[in-house]
Amino acid sequence: MNLPKISTGTAQSAERVHMPQTLPMIAGNWKMNGLKASLEVATAIAAASAEARADVVIFPPFTLIGQMAEALKGSHVSIGGQDCHTETHGAYTGDISAAMLADMGASHVLLGHSERRLVHGEACALVARKVQAALKAGLEPVICIGETLEQRLSGLTTDVLLNQLRDSLPDDLETASFHIAYEPVWAIGTGHSASDEQIIEAVAVIRKFLSHRFAGAPHPHILYGGSVNAENAGHLLGLEGIGGALVGGASLKAESFLKIIEAAG
Ligand code: PEP
Repeated sequence: MNLPKISTGTAQSAERVHMPQTLPMIAGNWKMNGLKASLEVATAIAAASAEARADVVIFPPFTLIGQMAEALKGSHVSIGGQDCHTETHGAYTGDISAAMLADMGASHVLLGHSERRLVHGEACALVARKVQAALKAGLEPVICIGETLEQRLSGLTTDVLLNQLRDSLPDDLETASFHIAYEPVWAIGTGHSASDEQIIEAVAVIRKFLSHRFAGAPHPHILYGGSVNAENAGHLLGLEGIGGALVGGASLKAESFLKIIEAAG
């Protein structure tokens, strides 16, 4: 397996990056949480963040996408699915296609989240095919990558990130019509975010890979995810190369998610 030669860089040596002139993306992953009553949380978020200097995306469970799209019609908040199938339709019991997400009003989709990779055994090649399906349906994929604690402790973080990037991004991916979320698995839902240096190093690896692969193209957002909350968001969003945050637990309550959106501005 021939990985591109990319040094990890450090907080000090990380190549100066040119951020695109876009707003930071603040994405809320509700995971398997939320009943109809939770639509109020989404409408409260949309109402109170109307002036926000951020692209706000909520990823509710599939069951709420249609109603949330209806409730947030005309607002600045976008909606995404948490996964999609590789095919548009067919005999795939329990699955949802990218076309179905778009039909319900979604504009984004999370792909390759570690809970899909680890709990559902999703390999990078499958994620790449889902990315293709998402783009075909007109959705913006947010492709999640990140190392486990065991991989980090074994010194494999850079290799894991490069492997995941190389194999989860389809060969025919041409433009920066996607986003990357760096989510160290050990920081998700633990209350312990990665350190500044760990995040900056990982983002430098990702940016160098993207620069090699998409020379000259504008960089996609690179989000950090893993125990982002109302207190640490301002600091994490200010780190070199970070273009937004993917937020799990703290996106379930309007109060904490709004503070994170505010921190982005
Ligand atoms: C996530 O699941 O994508 C996530 C970042 O969760 P949390 O913010 O709860 O760590």
